[in-house]
Amino acid sequence: MKLSKRITQITGGGSDGWDVFYRARRMLSEGQAVTELTIGEHDIRTDPSILHAMDLSAREGHTGYAMVPGTDLLRDTVAARVQTRTGVPTTRNNVMITPGGQSALFAAHMAVCDPGDVGLFLDPYYATYPGTIRGVGAVARAIQTAAEDAFQPCAERIDAAADGAVSLLINTPNNPTGVVYSRQSLEDVSEICQRRDLWLISDEVYDTQVWQGEHLSPRALPGMEDRTLVIGSMSKSHAMTGSRCGWIVGPEEVIAHLINLATHTTYGVPGFIQDASSYALTAGHELEEKIAAPFRRRRSQAVAILQDQSTVGLVPAQGAMYLMLDVRKTGLSGESFANALLDTHNIAVMPGESFGSAAAGHVRVAMTVEDNRFASALKTLCSFAEQLAQRHAAE
Ligand code: PMP
Repeated sequence: MKLSKRITQITGGGSDGWDVFYRARRMLSEGQAVTELTIGEHDIRTDPSILHAMDLSAREGHTGYAMVPGTDLLRDTVAARVQTRTGVPTTRNNVMITPGGQSALFAAHMAVCDPGDVGLFLDPYYATYPGTIRGVGAVARAIQTAAEDAFQPCAERIDAAADGAVSLLINTPNNPTGVVYSRQSLEDVSEICQRRDLWLISDEVYDTQVWQGEHLSPRALPGMEDRTLVIGSMSKSHAMTGSRCGWIVGPEEVIAHLINLATHTTYGVPGFIQDASSYALTAGHELEEKIAAPFRRRRSQAVAILQDQSTVGLVPAQGAMYLMLDVRKTGLSGESFANALLDTHNIAVMPGESFGSAAAGHVRVAMTVEDNRFASALKTLCSFAEQLAQRHAAE
């Protein structure tokens, strides 16, 4: 039977650089000790206080269908939070609750792209981006950022790629690079979106994980409120990846259409998950800091370790739970380096090539294991890279 192009073409096919990840999983299932630094999952679980709020809500009966746009409480909570953080007036009518940031990304593209329209995104990119854009029937067009510019968006390149495009998807703090976009970069992006009449889809799911600099939501820039859809999530800020709770913030008219979409797709998010999320978002800064703290610590450890050597380059580690390391001095691709590291030292990292072509010769390290183990794995990675680089220089 024929299947739709829309669904069969979501993934590009061919080698996608995830072989290392699957190999590491296989080695683990065979009982080998592998230090897993591949995916963005906290090494702590959801806080007991959040679970308590979830349990209480469920026991009070919040287990039936919830309101499709989200509960009034959670929509109000998200709106107030966004308004406080950005200064942009925001009400519940600007907010729709979604099953996680991923479905918010899909819904946002569904709202602005017609089949055949071009949706822009920046390379290196979070793995699902091109598939999400293709999933709504649009054409996914990647725009390179450069290691030499610390992977900040480049205005000229975006402008050059904007012909025929309707949307631009950006992500700051960034996965996979760990870079936080500068005010200048975001002002450039905002200027291009206005001049080229593009929707901006701004993925801000790591907005509580900023180690250096400041997170700026581009919705707050002049002229951007009416053309920006912000993606948020409980996953990263509150270690609630499995709860599947996120949101879209945008103009009221768009939210009204998105509610219509949700009625015909997800039919909302469980009420007890939303109540737990409302609790978590109002539980105070300490809870968020407690969840971000391990990454903040490990990022400091990493900066110190990398300062002590000159083979592996560190892309400015400003936010999110990842480090992007430049291993080009070894003469290997990111993929070959990651495979060799797994074979010789049982340490699994993601090849930069799994996130597009701009991060070739790099590897992404998730800071998601306990501090001592993390520091030791990073030191091993550095000395392994040094051996390879010496061998490469002698060739
Ligand atoms: N955006 C980025 C950049 C991500 O890294 C992730 C998850 N890894 C998501 C969105 C989606 O997260 P969730 O669906 O869990 O909210």
